[in-house]
Amino acid sequence: MPSASADTRTSAVGNDSAVVKLLQTALPSHCVITDSHAKKPFETDGLTAVKQVPWVVVLPETVDQVRAVLRICRDNRVPLVARGAGTGLSGGARPAADGVLLGLSKLSRIIEIDPDNRVARVEPGVRNLAISEAAAKYGLYYAPDPSSQIACSIGGNVAENSGGVHCLKYGLTVHNVLGLKLLTIEGDELTLGGETLDSPGYDLLALFNGSEGMLGIVTEVTVRLLPIPATKRLVLVAFATLEAAAAAVGRIIANGIVPAGLEMMDARAIAAAEAFVHAGYPTDAAAILLCELDGTQDEVEEQSAQVQRLMRAQNATEIRASQGDEDRERMWLGRKAAFPAVGRLAPDYYCMDGTIPRARLGEVLRAIEKLSEQFGLAVANVFHAGDGNLHPLILYDANAPGELKKAEEMGGEILALCVAVGGTVTGEHGVGVEKLDAMCGQFAAPELEQFHKLKAAFDPAGLLNPGKAVPTLARCAEVGGMHVHHGKIAFPEIERF
Ligand SMILES: Cc1cc2nc3c(=O)[nH]c(=O)nc-3n(C[C@H](O)[C@H](O)[C@H](O)COP(=O)(O)OP(=O)(O)OC[C@H]3O[C@@H](n4cnc5c(N)ncnc54)[C@H](O)[C@@H]3O)c2cc1C
Repeated sequence: MPSASADTRTSAVGNDSAVVKLLQTALPSHCVITDSHAKKPFETDGLTAVKQVPWVVVLPETVDQVRAVLRICRDNRVPLVARGAGTGLSGGARPAADGVLLGLSKLSRIIEIDPDNRVARVEPGVRNLAISEAAAKYGLYYAPDPSSQIACSIGGNVAENSGGVHCLKYGLTVHNVLGLKLLTIEGDELTLGGETLDSPGYDLLALFNGSEGMLGIVTEVTVRLLPIPATKRLVLVAFATLEAAAAAVGRIIANGIVPAGLEMMDARAIAAAEAFVHAGYPTDAAAILLCELDGTQDEVEEQSAQVQRLMRAQNATEIRASQGDEDRERMWLGRKAAFPAVGRLAPDYYCMDGTIPRARLGEVLRAIEKLSEQFGLAVANVFHAGDGNLHPLILYDANAPGELKKAEEMGGEILALCVAVGGTVTGEHGVGVEKLDAMCGQFAAPELEQFHKLKAAFDPAGLLNPGKAVPTLARCAEVGGMHVHHGKIAFPEIERF
């Protein structure tokens, strides 16, 4: 996609090049990093298997400086990759060897909290959790809560359309962002949406949520704030089989209850979490559900009783409801620490992210078990069950020859399985560089062509985050015949997995 050839650009890269001098003129000297040791921390995001030291890193302190960087890159046909906190799990912020890495962490001002309109206006480098912390004194919070919320930036959340435990009831980032300010590669400012509910014209606001830094740079975000619920209760339910736990997820929602969060952990994830943080989970269960209910005291009482009745009818082996906030926090501990806990089971793990229709959870979890046996790699499942958003963690050892490749192949099979049952290749972590091949399985040429046209409308020279998010048709042709008709494969045909 980038129009300037990589060879031409590479010959120009160097610390004394004209482009570096322009950047050093436009930004204070401490905001331009060319030293190879100082650039190293920017070589990767949360997908640590993929690394590339950038040519130059810039850390602007104002929107005007961001604009200047964009114009320098546009004029000199230099690729530009935006970076928030670098917690992304699909390699979206992987730098280009011959490009500028634009770090937005210094744009970290909370511009305004408006309790009357229940909105916050913030710069893109503000941490997700910092918004709720600032809004708390008004009894308000920002609902989407990725597990990385202590570190990840709201700009990165917009670019990835991030989700989290509470997105089942309150929606993803796209449902909670009311307005954006953006800079195009030309340095022009776009204002999309605002503090009111709807705006005329094409819905470019929705388009930018999940656009992975390919279309423009987010410089300001207006988010919706919600009142902190009066009461919360967590109900832990254990099951003797994965299928029983999966079926119970559907029963809760089919009965008209929309929990604030509905998470599932399998036996391996339970054992790892228990050994790590001692949250009191039943280690003899095949799976547990963590069902959080929130609202007024009466609502929570009623729903909690209803969930417990339903779960008994689903043959739950154990049901426990939290007694007060401290108990609830302790019960959440295991889920919240599940990723690092699983990280103790093997030298490395590969976190997959696919989404499926809820009704197919049981059979897909069983199929993943079969893949695990077939590839000889253990898997732990800990995920947003209510959303059908799977996170199989494939355990491997990157130092064992061939294991990373095997883990990647197995991950590819899991994503193909998700598409085959009517789901998608990502739930919340984005495509980045990780899932380009998987995209060939989900979309056919006409859809991919439209994606490329849309990218070209915003960024004709293909300078913003080149080579990410949307595969070229040539790549898909090389991958060959991966396109499956989603939803058309019925169990037991998925037995092939
Ligand atoms: C332990 C752990 C748990 C996680 N849990 C979750 C979870 O529960 N839910 C979830 O959705 N994700 C989760 N993630 C993934 C990750 O935290 C999210 O994708 C997050 O939104 C990334 O934000 P970031 O600021 O780190 O972005 P980065 O990783 O820096 O960048 C991500 C993408 O956004 C682009 N970008 C960043 N800032 C801007 C900007 N201002 N303008 C334009 N483009 C920009 C980058 O180019 C890149 O393509 C988790 C990650 C980790 C490590």
